Parts: sequence; structure tokens; C-alpha cells
Amino acid sequence: MNENDFPILLQQVHGRRLVYLDNAATTQKPQQVLDAIQEAYTTWNANVHRGVHHLSQLATQHHEQARQAVADFIGAKSAGEIIFTKGTTDSINMLAFSFGEQFIHEGDEIIVSYLEHHSNIVPWQMLCNRKKAVLKVIPLRADLSLEIEQYKCLFTDKTRLVSVAHVSNVLGIINPLQDIISFAHEHHVPVCVDGAQSVPHIPVNVCALDCDFFVFSAHKIYGPTGLGVLYGKQEWLEQLPPAQGGGEMINHVSFSATTYNALPYKFEAGTPNFIGSYGLQVALHYVEQLGREQVADYELQMMTYLEQQLAQIQGITIYAAGQPKAGAISFNVANLHPFDVGTLLDQQGVAIRTGHHCAEPLIDYLQVPGTIRASVALYTTKEDIDTLITALKKSISMLS
Ligand code: PLP
Repeated sequence: MNENDFPILLQQVHGRRLVYLDNAATTQKPQQVLDAIQEAYTTWNANVHRGVHHLSQLATQHHEQARQAVADFIGAKSAGEIIFTKGTTDSINMLAFSFGEQFIHEGDEIIVSYLEHHSNIVPWQMLCNRKKAVLKVIPLRADLSLEIEQYKCLFTDKTRLVSVAHVSNVLGIINPLQDIISFAHEHHVPVCVDGAQSVPHIPVNVCALDCDFFVFSAHKIYGPTGLGVLYGKQEWLEQLPPAQGGGEMINHVSFSATTYNALPYKFEAGTPNFIGSYGLQVALHYVEQLGREQVADYELQMMTYLEQQLAQIQGITIYAAGQPKAGAISFNVANLHPFDVGTLLDQQGVAIRTGHHCAEPLIDYLQVPGTIRASVALYTTKEDIDTLITALKKSISMLS
């Protein structure tokens, strides 16, 4: 990685060097991705799939190559299993609607966990309200890991789907997906994995995981906003109805009957974000060139250092302390409101996030008004962490 690859990080904020530790919310984009987007708009912008002309064919080629790149990146069997969406939230909403139409009936049950992002709660809750189905929740252990024995007890002959995060966006905890998925499969129940916080930090292979659906957002892995992925095993996607109607997702349209397109287009109504998919392809290539294992190892070193440094500050509570984490770590300072600490950190050029992180049930469970979350990326350095720690100590002394 070249230290100038992320131009946004070269600026000062409030007269200090910017230290960006809000990567779980969104990541910064390398120059290569910025250049790719500029190149796309300046040299081959044209609508995909429907054009015989040169630019349209180029755009189509780029878009379909991006789909293949995503399939390769997450180890899908074919590009037909990759549906482009607007983001993780959109992917889960699409799945909840489509899966719900086909498979959820009154009294059926869907399982999520206590530490989910709202995006992996509310769409299922809305589905349950529509269909008079039941949402069940995997409880947490005292150490904030999932209570797997209780998870197993939630299964009945009405269980239709499990949807869990791979990595918690608040705690950074890596959930035991192998146990969760293999147990669900023993009961012939499919599993959707919210990979918004795993794909950017740890190598993911959907075939090795054997998950049935996997979702993530491009903007959290150095790609553009407004683009996400819904992966589904072909045998599942083929059974699901389209979630939206419009252009592109059809085969033939008449007023008496409409037939639908093949996978993955059946799920992609309207003009897709083909500039975004090109940006994502370049972002994934960027990560691959650095080496996914190398990125994961490097980030783990940063996370370990961060946790060690935080643990030395008096009055700090680290949530899920000592557990294996990826990407994010949440903490609080005794007697201080996270918002006040976050505001003072910002004054010192350090961007972290405070609040409920779109995971209110978990925050309620912790019985706090919110947490302070620092989240790393491949460009995070030890110097960044040292700056955070110095700024944190100063903030604490100013507020105490
Ligand atoms: N799921 C998790 C675990 C997340 O961390 C996020 C975003 O922070 C989302 C879902 C929603 O992602 P998006 O806002 O990109 O749709």
C-alpha cells in the first residue's frame, strides 16, 4: 500500500492530522477506485444490457466482469448467484420480501440474534408482522458471545430461516457461523449471513461456510456507496420470486402475463449501478493485491494493540474484552457520556463513532446510553492508535 493511496486521509481536521477510526460506518476509497469511477464516466458510460452500440457493450462487459470478480472474491460457484443491490440493507429487505412471499406463512418462525444491526432485525420483523410469523432471538452469554445451546433450543418444526451477522458491528465479535449453519442445516433450515462487517476484514468463502445467503455493502470495503451484494445459492434463488418489477428482470411482458428473466437478472429491476460495480471490482482488486490474509493479519495486530492500549486506561470498560474480534471495538469511560468523549476526540482530529450503532437491542442489553466505537481498516497505523489513546486520555481529564 502506498501512503498516498487514500487522499482523504492526508487532510487535517480542526488543525490536526485526521485519524479516521470510523471504518465500520464506511471506509475511505483508494485513488484507484476514484480514478476508475472518473474513467467510467469519462470514457464508457452507457446503459448496460440493452444496447448494440460500442459503449453499451463496454459498460455491459465491465458490469458482468465485476459480478464475476465479486463471485470470485467470496467464493461463489457462479456469477449468476451474485445479485447487485443498493447495499446490505437493501439485500436483506429484498430477501425478506422474496423469501417471505414464497416460504413464510402464519405461525412460521425466523431466528435472528441479539446483537444484530437494525438492518438484520427490522426487515424480518416487518415480514413477521405481514405474515403473522414469529421472530425469535438468540440470547447472549455474560461475555456477550451468542448462547449457542439456547440457539439450538429455539428450533421447532416451524423454523424457516436463520439470519445472523458474521461479525458484530458494535462489538467486533466473530460469531461461530460453522456451528450456527451446520445445526440449521441438520434441520433443513437455510441461513442468511450479514457479512457487512466481515468481508472487509477477514477472508470469506461462502461455499466453505455453506451459508445459503450472504449480504454485504460495497462502501464498507473501499468501494462506492449505493451498491451492495446479495449472494444466494442457485437452488434457493431459483425458488424465490422477484422482489421488484420493472425493466431488465423480465423475459416477456404482456398485459395478460409476464415471464421473468434468468438469474441473477430476475432480481435486478431497472438500471443497475454499473459504475458502482466497476468501482467495487477495482476495490476488491486493491484488497487482493495487498493479500487478503495479509490484510486480516495486519488488522488483527492493530486490533490487538488497540485493545491493549485501551485496557491500560483507568475507568474504561471494553465490551467483549479479550474475545477474538475483527474491525471494531466498543468501550465506555466510567461516568462519561460517549457523545461527550466523541466530541472532544473530534476536536483533536480523531473520528470515532458514538451512540447505538443501529443496534439498539444490544445497547439496551448493555444498559448504557451508547458506546464509543473505534474501527480499523487496512490503512490504520499504530500511530493512529497512539493518537487516539493520547486524545482519549486528554478528553477524560478535561471531562472529569
Ligand atoms: N449490517 C451490519 C452488520 C452493518 O454494520 C451495517 C452498517 O453499518 C449494515 C448491516 C447496513 O449496511 P448499509 O447501511 O450499507 O446497508
